[in-house]
Amino acid sequence: MWKRSSFRAMVVASPLSAPEKGWTVTRKTAIYHSQSVRGHVTSKYVSYERSREQRMPELFRAAKAATMTPDAPVIEDAAIIAHQGIIREVGTYRDLAPSFSGTITDLGDITLTPGLINAHSHLELAHLRGKCPQGAGFVTWVENLLQQPIFDLDEDELDKAVDELKRSGTVMVGDIATRFAKQMAGVLEASGLFFAVFVEAIGETIPKKTFIPKGEYENGLLSVAGHSLYTTHRDVLRAAKAEATQRSIPFSIHLAEHDEEVAIMADRESEFLDLLQARGRLLDFVAPQKRPVEQAAELGLLDETTLAVHCVKVTDEDIQTVRDSGATVCLCPRSNEYIGVGRAPWEKWLASGTPLCLGTDSLASNYDLDLWNEAVYLKKNFDGELSFEQLLAMVTRNPANILGAGQYLGTLEPGKRAVFATVPDTISQLF
Ligand SMILES: [Zn+2]
Repeated sequence: MWKRSSFRAMVVASPLSAPEKGWTVTRKTAIYHSQSVRGHVTSKYVSYERSREQRMPELFRAAKAATMTPDAPVIEDAAIIAHQGIIREVGTYRDLAPSFSGTITDLGDITLTPGLINAHSHLELAHLRGKCPQGAGFVTWVENLLQQPIFDLDEDELDKAVDELKRSGTVMVGDIATRFAKQMAGVLEASGLFFAVFVEAIGETIPKKTFIPKGEYENGLLSVAGHSLYTTHRDVLRAAKAEATQRSIPFSIHLAEHDEEVAIMADRESEFLDLLQARGRLLDFVAPQKRPVEQAAELGLLDETTLAVHCVKVTDEDIQTVRDSGATVCLCPRSNEYIGVGRAPWEKWLASGTPLCLGTDSLASNYDLDLWNEAVYLKKNFDGELSFEQLLAMVTRNPANILGAGQYLGTLEPGKRAVFATVPDTISQLF
């Protein structure tokens, strides 16, 4: 089981990898054929699921396989042999087929990839799809969000969201839970998706014992995230990060998302600070007079087990600070566009060598949870070269590593889980 004990082992050795014990997750092989249509709709979903009792190994043949193993080329006329939910061999059909005895499934003219990983979502907000204003800026967006029934979980909408994740080839999420972490973990566990659910620390109170409720799951774990530098007290952030470090689990935080955050940190006038203080928040807030990334580094929040989300408002020096810390950055391009906060310097992030992920963020700030659509948006708006491999790494290998699942997901290699996605036409056409 992916219990904390095994997760700890996974994280301690070479950041977030090399577990002593593996998952004993549901032994199934799943392939998600995703077909995105005109940017925002996913229309075709076929999955093959094999039971754990499956005796015979199975060979999947595909025109191409992008294994995402570092530096490995895309395999033409690929074959992947899986048994009981685990990848056993990866190679060409010509090499593997002659000595194979078992079931052969020919997937035809498709490109197989590792199942996708959405590094940042808020499934609690699944019922707010289409309810919050687009492009009006962060303050208007938050004011509107706060008038919504944010804590009214809607099971039907949650089911729809989970189904949407699967339909678009997503096999794992890094999900932020403000109030319902255990429920979210329960929903995800039942769905068969892998997950890291982050309990979100917000406000001024450090819990007496732990940020993270007890719970052991077959397909994921609970961890802790700070909401932000301006809504979570610095001592709470330090304590949350310390607990994550002590447990060797990933930590996450929204960082440098919008101009208001920069202004609040710098002690400049801020409409957003006024809004928060009118609600009784941050009344004794002392601005550090630093940029957000500087402050996060100062508080000791950035290291190899931190996932910093957004990182839109950053200087060249900030990018270097994050790069040197070893932290991973999750870009949420469509969420930033939806809210109207501007766009992260994607090109500089990529050039810096910082590990990058993609996240859809919540349905209060995005149109859907389709990670392929996020990738299409990034590629179309990227200024300069962004290779297929670089783009795919953001939704496979990199998030697997930072979410502690690098030993099981993220690449197509022997020993990893046999959960695959197929590349939709909307992506293939771009390369
Ligand atoms: Zn978020």
